[in-house]
Amino acid sequence: MTIKPIDLDDFDDDAPRPVKPGSLSARALAQGEPAYLKGLNAEQRAAVETTDGPLLVLAGAGTGKTRVLTTRLAHILATGKAWPGQILAVTFTNKAAREMKDRIGALIGGVVEGMTWLGTFHAIGVKILRNHAELAGLRSGFSILDTDDQIRLLKQLLEAHDIDEKRWPARQLASLIDGWKNRGLTPEKIPAGEAHGFANGLGGKLYAEYQQRLKVVNAADFGDLLLEVLRIFQEHPDVLKEYQRRFKYMLVDKYQDTNVAQYLWLRLLAQGHRNICCVGDDDQSIYGWRGAEVDNILRFEKDFPGAKVIRLERNYRSTPDILGAASGLIAKNESRLGKTLRTDREESEPVTVRSHWDGDEEARTIGDDIESFQRKGDRLNDMAILVRASFQMRSFEDRFITLGVPYRVVGGPRFYERAEIRDALAYLKIIASPDNDLAFERIINTPKRGIGDTSVKRMHGHARSQGISLYRAAEALSLTDELPNKTRAALRALMDSFSRWRQSMDGLPHTELAEIVLDESGYTAMWQNDKSPEAEGRLENLKELVRSMGEFENLLGFLEHISLVMDVEQSPDDDKVNIMTLHAAKGLEFGTVFLPGWEEGLFPHQRALDEKGRAGLEEERRLAYVGITRAKRRAFISFAQNRRVHNLWQSALPSRFIDELPESHVEVAPMSTSYGGYGLGSYGKSRFEEQSFTNT
Ligand code: ATP
Ligand code: MG
Repeated sequence: MTIKPIDLDDFDDDAPRPVKPGSLSARALAQGEPAYLKGLNAEQRAAVETTDGPLLVLAGAGTGKTRVLTTRLAHILATGKAWPGQILAVTFTNKAAREMKDRIGALIGGVVEGMTWLGTFHAIGVKILRNHAELAGLRSGFSILDTDDQIRLLKQLLEAHDIDEKRWPARQLASLIDGWKNRGLTPEKIPAGEAHGFANGLGGKLYAEYQQRLKVVNAADFGDLLLEVLRIFQEHPDVLKEYQRRFKYMLVDKYQDTNVAQYLWLRLLAQGHRNICCVGDDDQSIYGWRGAEVDNILRFEKDFPGAKVIRLERNYRSTPDILGAASGLIAKNESRLGKTLRTDREESEPVTVRSHWDGDEEARTIGDDIESFQRKGDRLNDMAILVRASFQMRSFEDRFITLGVPYRVVGGPRFYERAEIRDALAYLKIIASPDNDLAFERIINTPKRGIGDTSVKRMHGHARSQGISLYRAAEALSLTDELPNKTRAALRALMDSFSRWRQSMDGLPHTELAEIVLDESGYTAMWQNDKSPEAEGRLENLKELVRSMGEFENLLGFLEHISLVMDVEQSPDDDKVNIMTLHAAKGLEFGTVFLPGWEEGLFPHQRALDEKGRAGLEEERRLAYVGITRAKRRAFISFAQNRRVHNLWQSALPSRFIDELPESHVEVAPMSTSYGGYGLGSYGKSRFEEQSFTNT
């Protein structure tokens, strides 16, 4: 069966449909018990067939929420209750949207076209906003700003107001504004107290000006894709009506992670046909820091009187031990609705808890396990390493490159491809070889030191005409009066620093040199002053970079390693181990899951505890619950006893979550014996040789 796309604007409600709801043919179809309904349990089936009226499916991990949502959508289509274009379906990622589309096709046997409104909140928001750009003060073809552009625009505003960016960083303002947008607050609506929180009371004013600026440059930022649509709905009842009429059925996955703006948006739209189905799990709410509100789930029945609530309790994903371990852990949270989960599966291995000497040994052991599971016939695709912080990926990526095991980083760049790592590497490369133009251009004005594009162009010109590198050209120009005074001074200072650092290369351990470079160049400070939520992760990544250098004898050896690592092409092979953060793992499932780094301070993360106290701890525990419940067959939890910080070994405490796991479902593995002589410098060397070997 192929469901043809239709143009909704020409769509007339009375036009003939494939099958009229309630018609004889629809009833006849229902008699035949479509294949897609088979295999659902009674509660799942009720959730699929209760198509009309508000419905909340509240259930734990792996109980088939996403499956119910997908089947329900297929059911609505197959029974002719709506055209594809009349269904609004919200998923959490674009990938999930694609998968859902494929699944629906498979369920009803054919390609489904015209599912225009299946996607993330942002994807749907941008579509609506494009249709009504003028109502938001935009023109058609408006652009969507990424974070960098957003920051640039805010910086201009700060400058215009003579606000010291060092004290009041643009990024801080950006997260403030994002926070307001997540809560559905336009500039006129922000609470007075909050408006005064930035730059001595200018926060609200800057927000308003920023919104005006966006209109002038005909652009929207990510937050606007929700906020502006919300505003259009609120201010233009006729437009709202049109969409209310259009969306006969609304389906929302991961309802626990919606923020206030998304919630208000859904509530308005659902007041039309009132056929809204949300699925969610309060125990998996992990985006509080992005403004998600678990309360949205709790309010559902109030907002939609007469709503049905269906609970699913049978878990189809995991073994009894995995489920038991996860349930026991999450039971320690106080603020939760509480659910029971059961499984009919019988074969089961306890969740393994392992302790390692340090992070490298942890990576080696996990690498060995993966190879051995692969030899036994498991697919790499079916294995995942889920980390709390992105810096943890480095040791696994290095290990996999050494072993020649293909891997992918899901939902983000690979460690050495991260912007902050590339910047740091650029400094180090210039110290080792000044004529690396690409590296030099990358950091000549990062952090900002007042060397603008025009001056860089002039250096390029000089380099070309003299046939020398950019670095030499910069050196030469810093001694003439061809550049403006201020620029020349900044450049001079930079060149002096480089020659000083280069001189230290022989005398200082290279890890110390790297720290000095990052400090003296102002690069570390740049991220320390950055108030965005990602800044801390970037600082952690930089520390990890320095730490990893310790495995090599000197800077050159390390840089050589890096160029080999960067050179390893993403193998065309489709079978790869998955590495991702716990946040990126939601909704996914794997046969084998590794959960490394369960240490106090790392997981639960110190920042969550410092900033939000018990609520922060509970959110971290939900994250642990998400992690364990990704596993179908095997879960390995591990921690390192020592982590190297600033070239010093610090002992780490096992995470409190480990002691909270119910003993009956857990097995403590004997300490690994694969001692590799780390800390002696020899490990890095042998590893490097192995590396060159695998690359030839
Ligand atoms: P999460 O909370 O992690 O997002 P979920 O509740 O959305 O989980 P699904 O991903 O829909 O759960 O389902 C988990 C697994 O169980 C999937 O592999 C799915 O195919 C399988 N499953 C769900 N329902 C059934 C069923 N009735 N029979 C067999 N397998 C099922
Ligand atoms: Mg799901």
